[in-house]
Amino acid sequence: MRIILLGAPGAGKGTVAELLMEKFGIKQISTGDILRGEVKNGTELGAVAAGYMNRGELVPDSLILKIMEKRLMQDDCRKGFILDGFPRTISQAESLDMTLAKLSRKIDAVVNLEVPEDVILKRLTSRRTCANPGCQAIYNIHSKPTKKEGICDKCGSPTIQRDDETEDAIRQRLATYQEKTAPLINYYKDNPVFLSVPSLRPEPVVDAITKFTEKQAS
Ligand code: ADP
Repeated sequence: MRIILLGAPGAGKGTVAELLMEKFGIKQISTGDILRGEVKNGTELGAVAAGYMNRGELVPDSLILKIMEKRLMQDDCRKGFILDGFPRTISQAESLDMTLAKLSRKIDAVVNLEVPEDVILKRLTSRRTCANPGCQAIYNIHSKPTKKEGICDKCGSPTIQRDDETEDAIRQRLATYQEKTAPLINYYKDNPVFLSVPSLRPEPVVDAITKFTEKQAS
């Protein structure tokens, strides 16, 4: 099973990916998580990426493509994967198409998560993320609080507000999404594997994806 999740920042890609991962036993690949891991580990790549990320801009395609080409070739991707946050530009989508063709692999579903902008703004400002780079669990102070305030349920590390979750950075991320990523909907919309679903709660999205892929397979 190979799934691409599209949607604005805060549309719920990470949460849906986590549920899909449990359900189908396949890996979630989040370019945002990979990049934040590089920043935390103080790598050269992380140092370059951090500036773009904190401003709410996209990291240059060349860097992302280098990361993803390697990642998709790894053994744990054989059974399938859920792409969360990639592709994010038309050029990344074209390059993904080429990599998959090289590996003779096909995508089963490209899912666009639809959420109104006011809901997105509220979600992003109330989001908290586990500071442990190996965990990065996501919470929400309103809809999914930690059991103990400010402490990750899964690993006990502190939960923090991401550097790119200030109001200015959020506005910039949404503008970047409109300009660079929203055009991907057009890129995929005539493809038979494209599905667009309202994403106000994650469970109905997972159900819709499950039904869709079952129908495709039959
Ligand atoms: P969100 O989807 O909530 O904005 P992510 O965790 O997916 O957050 O991404 C955080 C930041 O990482 C982005 O704002 C961007 O700077 C960078 N990033 C992640 N994925 C990509 C990508 N595919 N291409 C370019 N930049 C990316």
